[in-house]
Amino acid sequence: AKADGKGAFHFFEQAMDEALQARRALELDLRLALAEGQFELYYQPLYSLGVDQVTGCEALLRWRHPVRGMVSPADFIPLAEEIGLINALGEWVLREACREAAGWPQPVRLAVNLSPAQFRDRHLVSTVVSALAASGLAAERLELEITESVLLQDTAGNMSILHDLKALGVRISMDDFGTGYSSLSYLRSFPFDKIKIDQTFVRDILDDADALAIIKAVLDLGASLGITTTAEGVESVEQLDELRRQGCGEIQGYFISRPKPAAEIAAMLGVVVEN
Ligand code: C2E
Ligand code: CA
Ligand code: CA
Repeated sequence: AKADGKGAFHFFEQAMDEALQARRALELDLRLALAEGQFELYYQPLYSLGVDQVTGCEALLRWRHPVRGMVSPADFIPLAEEIGLINALGEWVLREACREAAGWPQPVRLAVNLSPAQFRDRHLVSTVVSALAASGLAAERLELEITESVLLQDTAGNMSILHDLKALGVRISMDDFGTGYSSLSYLRSFPFDKIKIDQTFVRDILDDADALAIIKAVLDLGASLGITTTAEGVESVEQLDELRRQGCGEIQGYFISRPKPAAEIAAMLGVVVEN
């Protein structure tokens, strides 16, 4: 029995070693990826139900790993945050996305995700200023998406950064609304320009009365605050119809379009590429 126990522990130790090594390998690859140009941005349209047209596109980061293939941001962004790479990566995303969006038709906005960790970068505001200046994209056309965890950590400092960003003329959206803890008080603490209803509610809108009730309540809230409410993760025409019936202003999801490479999005937006 004693030997068995030892064997089991040994096995556990070995498994831990392997997990640690796999993580280290991914970490090393991630450190190289930026310099090696392995990152790409895909863009997913935001579609206005009011005017029936594309009003913006959200930049979504992709890592094309030479061996692993496409790695999901859900897998590498937390790691990038942990190893202190998120600021460099976030800056690349901002510059690249602004440069791309500057070529889109005027009214089409660009949405960029900001990680809470980027708020610990004291250059964040000047990075945004410089990305806008370098690209020529008007500040009004940039929407920065944050989650409520930004307001959960270091509230005073982050709040002042948010106000500085807003003073530039960029818009601030609350992402993944409804998944956190005390979303309502956050809406009071900062003048957000947009609320994005998390896709978990939209997924269940047709067969879960509670999900529908919550969506209705958030749409009411957005209307009372006078801001746009976007429903994320719309995959079917039935979901779209229900959201339209409820007075939702904007949707995003596979039903309109999956995230696509920059060139495909530019073609969809009718951008004429000169050779
Ligand atoms: P998010 O900001 O909530 O982005 C929406 C996610 O939902 C994207 O996943 C998108 O591909 C996916 N999606 C869109 N429509 C549908 C749909 O109809 N059905 C389903 N099932 N999914 C849909 P993605 O691209 O894998 O990104 C995951 C998360 O990674 C993002 O969630 C965001 O939190 C983070 N992320 C992506 N790009 C960046 C970035 O440049 N910077 C930072 N900090 N985070 C990023
Ligand atoms: Ca987002
Ligand atoms: Ca979201």
